[in-house]
Amino acid sequence: PFNTDRGQHILKNPGVVNAIVEKSALKASDTVFEVGPGTGNLTVKMLEAAKKVVACEIDPRMISELKKRVLGTPSQNKLEVRSGDVMKMEWPYFDVCVANLPYQISSPFVFKLLLQRPLPRYAVLMFQKEFADRLIAKPGDKDYCRLSVNVQLLAKVDHLMKVKRTEFRPPPKVDSAVVRIAPKNPPPPINFQEWEGLLRLCFLRKNKKLISIFKQTNVANLIEENYRKVCSLKNKPIPKDFNVKELIESTMVESGFAERRARTMAVEEFLLLLLTFNKVDIHFC
Ligand code: SAM
Repeated sequence: PFNTDRGQHILKNPGVVNAIVEKSALKASDTVFEVGPGTGNLTVKMLEAAKKVVACEIDPRMISELKKRVLGTPSQNKLEVRSGDVMKMEWPYFDVCVANLPYQISSPFVFKLLLQRPLPRYAVLMFQKEFADRLIAKPGDKDYCRLSVNVQLLAKVDHLMKVKRTEFRPPPKVDSAVVRIAPKNPPPPINFQEWEGLLRLCFLRKNKKLISIFKQTNVANLIEENYRKVCSLKNKPIPKDFNVKELIESTMVESGFAERRARTMAVEEFLLLLLTFNKVDIHFC
């Protein structure tokens, strides 16, 4: 009866369900957004703890199961069910998001969450363990990657618990982990397009020295193109013998970033690198 293409793996151990709800630390005044309630194992527990649960589910069979489960209970009026694909619908207002997500949507879901306004207090989410490892990785860790930096720019991420594949019915092919993502509020005041542009370059090869990446001809050409646009907007004259690779090199050597590698750099260092480039009118979008 379960559609594993839709990530339908139901938590069968009530101990795990209770632990997730407990770690979500819901307040009696909270509106909770649950994604993929399935048959409602988490939902019924959260309805006891919160003011309201808005549950979004794509599968009509699951929705009728869930509705049947709360019918005639005191929780019935606290539950609002929305039918459809969470990535395609407008999200409701919520204080906390709790979800045992279908793993296919992990990455887009996290970024949609972090762009949500008003920002929620936090989200408690179950992911495939490998994805969770990348979310929580620190500079120098083997799993540290562009995803780690992007998410940690916008949120504080904490590992809450591991969940073995055998805790689900049917069991998925991989283990899982529950993490808490608490958005930084207010979010850092930066141009995300430009931030993303810089990170893409830095992580072209996360083990390579930054100077070798930035002096690659294709990268340098891109930087020069942007540089000329910015200078013309600012009416800043460009010398005839302008050499973009020299500008890149002097900027990176003076700031101490030339010999660094993306895999060991913290969020604050990427922010500083961006600021350093911007000061000499180097931009990434
Ligand atoms: N919450 C239940 C539990 O923990 O036992 C079920 C979780 S199961 C991993 C994921 C649920 O998300 C399934 O019920 C599935 O139908 C639903 N789902 C899959 N893709 C979805 C989407 N794009 N939007 C909303 N729900 C989705």
